[in-house]
Amino acid sequence: MSGSGRSLELVLATANPDKVVEIGAILGQAGITVLPRPTDVGEVEEDGETLLDNARLKAVTLQRATGRAAVADDTGLEVAALDGAPGVRSARYAGEGATYADNVAKLLAELERAPSRNRQARFITVAFVSFPDGTELWETGVVEGHIATEPRGSNGFGYDPVFVPEPGDGRTFAQLSAAEKQAVSHRGRAFRALANRLGSM
Ligand code: IMP
Repeated sequence: MSGSGRSLELVLATANPDKVVEIGAILGQAGITVLPRPTDVGEVEEDGETLLDNARLKAVTLQRATGRAAVADDTGLEVAALDGAPGVRSARYAGEGATYADNVAKLLAELERAPSRNRQARFITVAFVSFPDGTELWETGVVEGHIATEPRGSNGFGYDPVFVPEPGDGRTFAQLSAAEKQAVSHRGRAFRALANRLGSM
């Protein structure tokens, strides 16, 4: 942080290794140190009605459990032809304990059935920081795109094999390098905006 001479340290609320790598890289570039979630703190149940509710819930829970500033994100994929589904339910779209592949298969099946041929979609991330003094900061990042007709690529995670960012060259997120994804992704945009706010505090 400016002025203090010490870099800001944030406990990361997620233990999802895919997200840890992405968030660590983005905040690391901004000079912010990310500390792993302590192993004795369990998974926070994401029962909020919005991405903001869930991101706040995760960050505040970790801040209270550790007594340190904590950062969380919550992400949803909104598909036009499915009236914004899976949205806040993206992780459990195919049911409790669903794998990434289960969720992708369900998404493609639902799109086949949908009356609309519109495959437009967007990822939205809310990145949220909670400080022990009660200060809260959050930023939202969005990337527009469409859902491919079949999975392509092996990088990334989640719905990456079927999400084609726009504007782009037609490759899915899973066909981009980590740096290419981060430059345009919902998570990259949300966390870079958050890092800018933190840097000017
Ligand atoms: P979460 O609730 O923020 O963990 O995210 C919900 C779900 O959205 C995850 O389980 C993934 O399936 C999916 N997801 C989140 N971020 C991404 C991403 O960057 N690419 C593809 N899928 C993602």
